[in-house]
Amino acid sequence: MKRRTFLKAGLAAAALFTLPLAMQAGQKRKGSMIKKISKSESEWRQSLTAEQFDVLRKEGTERPFSSPLNKQYDDGIYACSGCDLPLFESSAKFDSGTGWPSFTTPIEGHIETKRDFKMVLPRTEYHCARCGGHQGHVFNDGPEPTGQRWCNNGVALKFIPS
Ligand SMILES: [Zn+2]
Repeated sequence: MKRRTFLKAGLAAAALFTLPLAMQAGQKRKGSMIKKISKSESEWRQSLTAEQFDVLRKEGTERPFSSPLNKQYDDGIYACSGCDLPLFESSAKFDSGTGWPSFTTPIEGHIETKRDFKMVLPRTEYHCARCGGHQGHVFNDGPEPTGQRWCNNGVALKFIPS
């Protein structure tokens, strides 16, 4: 009885709040249990390459088609190049044609999102849940099963073959 009432309320709420899918996913992932890493800017500069620092710590964007990971389709895990936290599985990778490594879904709880107002249209930025390193942006024009396109800077990832 209670469960049914709860379900009804849930459906009504879902109808009311037509947030983009990525936002809902981001909210769902907010209760992350990952222990955060925090380093000073100079510490990050020492542990990262200039390209990694620009993307991970300054939210830069690498040139499209510049990353060797763009055409990487072997089995394995894509981990944050800032702190090694696994962020994506190779099974979620697809060829988006954009020139950036693209995924349909991240590893649950390892990614956090925020709204980014740098462009005219607001975008959903996402970053590593452990070190806060910027990874890319998520869009709702991806393939099945999620319909999401997690568009990632290759330099922010390291591929670990399985
Ligand atoms: Zn990280």
